[in-house]
Amino acid sequence: MRYSEVVKAYAEIEHTTSRQRIGDLLAALIARTPPEVLGRLVYLTQGKLYPDFVGVEMGLAERLALRAVARALDASEEQVRKNLAATGDLGATAEQVLRRKGHRARRPLSVGEVYERLDRLARSAGPGAQGQKIELLRELVGDASPEEARYLVRTATGKLRLGVADMTLLDVLAMVYAGGKQARPVIERAYNLTSDLGLVATELAEGGLERLAALKPQPGRPIRPMLAQRLGSPSEIMQRMGGACAAEYKYDGERVQVHRLADGQVAIFSRRIEDITHQYPDVLESVRKHLRPRSAIFEGEVVAVEPGTGELRPFQELMHRKRKHRVQEAIEAYPVALVAFDLLYADSVDYTPHPYPKRRAVLSKAIESTPSLCLATQEVVRSAETLERFFLKAVADGAEGVVCKNVSEHATYRAGAREWLWIKYKREYVSAMADTVDLVVVGALHGRGRRGGTFGSLLLAAYDPEADVFRAVTKCGSGFSDQDLQQDLPRRLEPLELPHRHPRVDSRLVPDVWFVPEVVIEVIGAEITLSPTHTAALGQFRPGSGLAIRFPRFTGRYRDDKRPEDATTVAELAEMYRRQLRQLPQ
Ligand code: ATP
Repeated sequence: MRYSEVVKAYAEIEHTTSRQRIGDLLAALIARTPPEVLGRLVYLTQGKLYPDFVGVEMGLAERLALRAVARALDASEEQVRKNLAATGDLGATAEQVLRRKGHRARRPLSVGEVYERLDRLARSAGPGAQGQKIELLRELVGDASPEEARYLVRTATGKLRLGVADMTLLDVLAMVYAGGKQARPVIERAYNLTSDLGLVATELAEGGLERLAALKPQPGRPIRPMLAQRLGSPSEIMQRMGGACAAEYKYDGERVQVHRLADGQVAIFSRRIEDITHQYPDVLESVRKHLRPRSAIFEGEVVAVEPGTGELRPFQELMHRKRKHRVQEAIEAYPVALVAFDLLYADSVDYTPHPYPKRRAVLSKAIESTPSLCLATQEVVRSAETLERFFLKAVADGAEGVVCKNVSEHATYRAGAREWLWIKYKREYVSAMADTVDLVVVGALHGRGRRGGTFGSLLLAAYDPEADVFRAVTKCGSGFSDQDLQQDLPRRLEPLELPHRHPRVDSRLVPDVWFVPEVVIEVIGAEITLSPTHTAALGQFRPGSGLAIRFPRFTGRYRDDKRPEDATTVAELAEMYRRQLRQLPQ
């Protein structure tokens, strides 16, 4: 398949903000793609070469790409920089200059070849890698047509940004290969079990739905985590759970999924499905020593503990372990423990279809309990009073609250889903809307006065999984320290700036700058209100009004562990709003 055909579709996708039309264009492209290159096309369309967990990133630094482009165009870096200042996009610059010069592609490029050459570029490492990368991009741009060059440069610099979300691709795959929406659950399950869209696409194209339905977890491939709903009182929880549940401490640390492969290798994945194995050498060590099955996949929370006593320490302590240097020192100063709470696979058996009590029983046998690797504290409760007592004990022991788990035979592991089989109850819920929400930064307004030159406030959005868009819910200007305003926010947000609204963002309010929805921050508000300015749950509670958060305040916590799709959803906000109404005197 020719790359020129692919970029023609990209150009059309880029010029539409209609999600329906984007889906149709993608469907037409995918339908034309031969199965053997489909996986690679799927990664390329998302600006990647591999699923995220593999950790091979494009992202060639812009100054190096600029040098490569200048060389390919036979222009000076200064000239290219000037043009770049006008376009704001090195890809567009490359295209413009090539056109002006009447440049033609040297020969047709195939998708396979483009992929292979970008892969070489991404993987070159070690001494001389910079020069090599520049040279590889120079050659590629030189071989390409102006339009191809635009997308090649963007891809190589990690800025393709077509706004094609995973969920959109799943829909499109269902449409093209499986007769439409009714196939979606099987395709989505395969994606949740493998976290790899390219693999799902290939398996579907080559083996049909049957092949996908037969997919099993495989150590080394992260499974998308099962998530919890929330409720504000033990009695509501007990009602939802049908009178009994397993209540567990909700540990406040970092969720991890640990994989041991049959060859003994251990890998640790974050909640965002990134490989964070190198961050916890001490956890690796205890898994090696104290996990019994040869191969396994289990989940737990890494928590900071008091040296000596093993008591739980607050989440902030764990952040000291995020450093890149003097790691050994940090390991000693800030010891951690891994508290295991679920088991998904062990020695060739897929436990995801088994009910939770069975999984927990297998987990407890799989782990030789030690201070550094242990089981989550659990009690099976049968009344709201016992649950309340267990909750108070959890909080007194330094936990954030409890996670209640359904113990019926239907309580399978639902990868990637936030359902009512797990319900969290946190200490914050005990007061008004003191519960925090995790929102996505989609825009910003410039600061004035003392805030001049920095962000005045951020436009924040909740996720709407039905429509797969981010709907604005509030403008948040408080809670940011000078360090946030001057360093932490610009570092995260500047690379995501856009001259226009991102197609997956829905907002009536027009900020000074828009961002690619990517950064998630934790926010606390006074209450949830209705507002004509915001678009979350628009019209659901009052015609013309959406949900908004009053007096929002940044808690200081960047949720770098969450992808934008993991942010608080519109439905959750609606649920919180309903609950709030019930608490108010009528
Ligand atoms: P939060 O910000 O409340 O941690 P979240 O969106 O990260 O929420 P949820 O699925 O809503 O995740 O809540 C469950 C989270 O609680 C898990 O992701 C995990 O990190 C953490 N956790 C701590 N202890 C447990 C436990 N015993 N069982 C399950 N999850 C636990």
